[in-house]
Amino acid sequence: MKEKQLSLFKLLKFNKNPDKEIPENIHLEKNQLWCPYCSNIVVFVRDKRLGVKKCPICSITINDYWVKKVNHLV
Ligand SMILES: [Zn+2]
Repeated sequence: MKEKQLSLFKLLKFNKNPDKEIPENIHLEKNQLWCPYCSNIVVFVRDKRLGVKKCPICSITINDYWVKKVNHLV
């Protein structure tokens, strides 16, 4: 059990260097974005306290340069 938790934790390490573009084999549905920091398809959720959308996995905000860049929001 402990080992399993440890491996799950390892999965949650985030890219120091964010993805510069969405991988070719990724197809995003409506509302989905590519998170360049955790390399996952995610739906950014609004943080009620900060009033900004964030990745539910790594908490990067949608205002981040690379989030905007890879998702063509700029
Ligand atoms: Zn993320």
